[in-house]
Amino acid sequence: MPTPIEKMIDASAKCAKCGAPMGKCSCWITLRCPKCKRARTVEREDYDPKNCAVIECSCDRCNHFDSSTVDYFDAEGRQINLDGELITTAS
Ligand SMILES: [Zn+2]
Ligand SMILES: [Zn+2]
Repeated sequence: MPTPIEKMIDASAKCAKCGAPMGKCSCWITLRCPKCKRARTVEREDYDPKNCAVIECSCDRCNHFDSSTVDYFDAEGRQINLDGELITTAS
């Protein structure tokens, strides 16, 4: 039995939540560990920024020091804050 995530990866798959072609909706967020680069797709939570496409946070294996740093990125790979606003690095 393929899991919902495995079905999702199928190129012809539709979103299991809203029925839109995969990649055309925002029901899902990529959760990525910045240290080991492992990534998985998770359901968007209500508290996630609306335009967030990728969340970077340490996975269980890498998070040895209880650092709860979480970074949000939009679909363009730009870092955003919890309100979905771009974080501009002042120079
Ligand atoms: Zn969807
Ligand atoms: Zn990791």
